[in-house]
Amino acid sequence: MSRGAWFEPYYSHKWAGRTMGAMNNVYSFAIPENTMRPRVQPETPLVIPPFLCSIKANKPEEMVLNEEWIPGSAEHVAEIIARLRAAYPDAHCALHYETPIQLLVATILSAQCTDERVNMTTPALFARFPTADALAAAEPEEMEELVRPTGFYRQKARYIRETAARLLAEYGGEVPSEMEKLLTLPGVARKTANVVRGEIYGLADGVTVDTHIKRLSARLGLTVAADPVKVERDLMRIIPPESWIEIAHLLIWHGRRVCAARKPACHACPLSDICPSAFMPGDYRPAGVALVES
Ligand code: SF4
Repeated sequence: MSRGAWFEPYYSHKWAGRTMGAMNNVYSFAIPENTMRPRVQPETPLVIPPFLCSIKANKPEEMVLNEEWIPGSAEHVAEIIARLRAAYPDAHCALHYETPIQLLVATILSAQCTDERVNMTTPALFARFPTADALAAAEPEEMEELVRPTGFYRQKARYIRETAARLLAEYGGEVPSEMEKLLTLPGVARKTANVVRGEIYGLADGVTVDTHIKRLSARLGLTVAADPVKVERDLMRIIPPESWIEIAHLLIWHGRRVCAARKPACHACPLSDICPSAFMPGDYRPAGVALVES
């Protein structure tokens, strides 16, 4: 086993801190600024130190971390995709919509809100304002009331009306497929644009990074970044482009069903032997890399 990455400053602090925390039942520790980034990441992949496995010694054999997997390696990523694909053969976008503009609106509403709540909100909204024309002409107060359950409702209602108006004025009421054009629409950032391009046009400029993907990417050792744009950059380096749309659906489904934010069900996870975060005691997880600004 190569130990090159293990002795990188970042990993030394991170893994040593985790392990000491695990032994002392203390999971918060300070990581000195500027000493915790890998010099090269993820091209220099994380090598899991053998002693990390020992703190999982009371786990069933098949669930003990297999230290031969190198997080972020092509083999590791391919195995994650294969196992999640087998676990969730029907993984798909959870937002309900019938037209491209409805998906665009639903995705705008999903910011800081669960897909379930968005799906409870959009039927009434789309029944009242089914087209770009209707959305653009909506009375602000009426739309605000309809989207209120999704939070930040004034801002979201304004984004929706302004986006619909822009689509009418510049794109004939259609949702454009180009990333640059989508990013000029009010309330549309990379995540929204990636969802729309992937769902409507089967195109991918990158990987959608929502809260689930951000959390799972960290836990699985695929990134040390906290900023979604940097997480996406890291994922794009290690995941083949043809899997960018699929991996987003798979990670989101896995995050919702098994790898929950607070209590991940590692005992029921098909990735438990290839996940560097599996069975870590307490609530502390490498999502703790959220402490780290990359
Ligand atoms: S549920 Fe546990 S083993 Fe599975 S991906 Fe999440 S942290 Fe890793």
